[in-house]
Amino acid sequence: MLWDCSSCGTNKLLGKSHRRCPHCGAPQDPTKRYFPPAGEEVPVEGHVYVGVDWRCAACETPNSKAADFCVNCGNPREGNAAVKLVDDQPAARPGPPAAARLAPTSTSGSKKGWLVLASVLGAVLLLALVVAIFWTRDTAVTIAGHAWQRDIDVEQMAARADSAWCSSMPGDAYSVRRSREVRSHRDVPDGQECHTVRRDNGDGTYSTSQECSTKYRSEPVYDDKCYFTINRWGVSRTERAQGVGVSPAPTWPPVRLSRTGSCLGCEREGARREVLTVKVHGPKRDWDCEVDAARWQRLADGVAAKVKVRVVTGGAVCSSLR
Ligand SMILES: [Zn+2]
Ligand SMILES: [Zn+2]
Repeated sequence: MLWDCSSCGTNKLLGKSHRRCPHCGAPQDPTKRYFPPAGEEVPVEGHVYVGVDWRCAACETPNSKAADFCVNCGNPREGNAAVKLVDDQPAARPGPPAAARLAPTSTSGSKKGWLVLASVLGAVLLLALVVAIFWTRDTAVTIAGHAWQRDIDVEQMAARADSAWCSSMPGDAYSVRRSREVRSHRDVPDGQECHTVRRDNGDGTYSTSQECSTKYRSEPVYDDKCYFTINRWGVSRTERAQGVGVSPAPTWPPVRLSRTGSCLGCEREGARREVLTVKVHGPKRDWDCEVDAARWQRLADGVAAKVKVRVVTGGAVCSSLR
């Protein structure tokens, strides 16, 4: 370790052997010790480590752990604290000027400001959204009409292009083309990353050690991808019937299938869907409300009802219609 004499300005004094400044005689200040810049290390010959120095409270001189009395003033060791260890500052590297070093701190400060602003804005938006959804008012309405719509999907067996990892390809696939593709990535060890760590011994010297960690690189894992043709059912068209009023009652649309069976081009009936709506007449506007079959029957035309209306958006909460 080195130290600078603040009394006479002599720099790079040796922490181990210069317990007093050889120029002016001022005692070494152990808090001013620092790690030598690269290339200016001084090897300590025959160094025996006995422990961290103690600092004489009377004259501030750092003394070897082995010394029972201060080498400068003769003060006994009893009751004197050990010197504080110095952290390895990157002093070996030429540091940027103070202003430049401060700059990133202020940037991160303003970044933090933006972050706070953004989270406050987010909270306000969330609150507005909650209000828009949950702030409702009971409104008197009348039922002004009924409408219904019934759909039947028509599915067709057809040759369809598809792909899958070959290990999970369906057994009835045909016209298969294989290709080697990246399926995932894995981390593989890629050597060691080492750097030298310097530690203050506290007696005016320091020691170095290597700290290493394993580096990893991402490596693609390949697998066989299969592109194939397969005969599968799929929705090809939808038949629809719709009407207004409860009577005549809703009916399913007629479905004409070109060919039945499971041949290529054969058709079958798929999913059925029904949408029942009532027209709700309010004091300021009307809404179309989707309801279940029981309510669609019960809520007759002209019946007085109540519905919750969202104050912010003006939309009716149809599930509250009664
Ligand atoms: Zn000096
Ligand atoms: Zn002393």
